[in-house]
Amino acid sequence: MVDQRSHIGGNAYDCHDDNGVLVHKYGGHIFHTNSQRVAEYLSRFTCWTPYQHKVKALVNDQLVPLPINYNSIEMIFGKPDGQQMVQALEDEFGEYSSVPILKMRQSSSSQIRRVADVMYEKVFLHYNLKQWGLTPEQLDASVSARVPVRLSRDDRFFQDSFQNMPEDGYTAMFKRMLNDPLITVELDTSYRDAVESIRFKRLVFTGPIDEYFDYKYGQLPYRSLRFQFETKPQEKLVQHVAQENYPTPANEHPFTRSMEFRHITNQQGVNFTTLSLEYPEAYVVGQNQPYYPVPRDENRELFRKYQADAMKLKSVFFAGRLADYSYYNMDQAVARALSCFDKQIVAVAA
Ligand SMILES: Cc1cc2nc3c(=O)[nH]c(=O)nc-3n(C[C@H](O)[C@H](O)[C@H](O)COP(=O)(O)OP(=O)(O)OC[C@H]3O[C@@H](n4cnc5c(N)ncnc54)[C@H](O)[C@@H]3O)c2cc1C
Repeated sequence: MVDQRSHIGGNAYDCHDDNGVLVHKYGGHIFHTNSQRVAEYLSRFTCWTPYQHKVKALVNDQLVPLPINYNSIEMIFGKPDGQQMVQALEDEFGEYSSVPILKMRQSSSSQIRRVADVMYEKVFLHYNLKQWGLTPEQLDASVSARVPVRLSRDDRFFQDSFQNMPEDGYTAMFKRMLNDPLITVELDTSYRDAVESIRFKRLVFTGPIDEYFDYKYGQLPYRSLRFQFETKPQEKLVQHVAQENYPTPANEHPFTRSMEFRHITNQQGVNFTTLSLEYPEAYVVGQNQPYYPVPRDENRELFRKYQADAMKLKSVFFAGRLADYSYYNMDQAVARALSCFDKQIVAVAA
């Protein structure tokens, strides 16, 4: 296993900072999945601590539950109006558990459209502008569908059947995964250096697919982030919940979210707490990291050209968030790796 970084674990890497707080170097990572196979596979390498993620968003100077749910609507609009809106939503969409904001905007009910318009402006628009540098309409519907309005009072961010954090962190879990006499780890080594010096029969490439092909069809757009870590000399946690989102305009808050790690890790016995603020920025090759593939049709078309070339290679397989140019969560990345193993490696061995 070769990585150009000086550590294992990819973006899920965690480590202790100078004050002994377990932090996620690339932003807070919360593990959740509905896949029994993924949960069982990872459980070979870690025990788990139960954790239900909660997020609050700053709307009209108050922190309201996210995804927006009935509680948030009543907080934003006040009780009489908010209750009527909740009723209108219940009447129109009651059979669903959640509705994307863009669908609510097309409703024939003026009350629902009002909720949607306020949510659009206060929760989605500026967040998207900051996160992607684009409006929600310029992105795939899948992006806004990730943060729908939830038709209940369930304040948990995720509803997956398996929501747990690795008991002693992600890096510890990956270390156990790599602890095998057949696995050699080479860090600070780029793929290009490795192919020169390492003999291989099959290669799984997890970097950006356009980089692999020397950008021959042009660069696939990515979005990047800058993390600002702040440590406070106190045992008491600063935020009420692990994650606070700032869907406010960039001139009010240039960052999108603030994550307090000890909420997530449940780390005990430290007299410090560390938070990270996330500042989205454009991705520039060689200057920062390609964190998010930008989910738009034109980008996917460009990706397909690279994918067609990738399919022609017999001994190189592309898998992962950057290689598949797909907005994967960790469990999806693991599922992709397992299916790659099933299809390619097992098939070849058979
Ligand atoms: C800010 C942020 C928050 C996230 N939060 C969550 C969350 O809460 N829950 C969740 O499930 N998922 C979350 N994710 C997604 C999660 O990080 C990814 O699903 C996961 O890391 C994907 O794993 P991967 O192996 O595909 O890619 P990566 O983790 O990106 O690993 C790819 C590795 O390949 C290496 N590499 C790339 N190019 C080369 C090269 N040319 N030579 C050598 N090495 C190379 C990179 O250095 C990197 O270590 C988050 C992502 C980000 C950016």
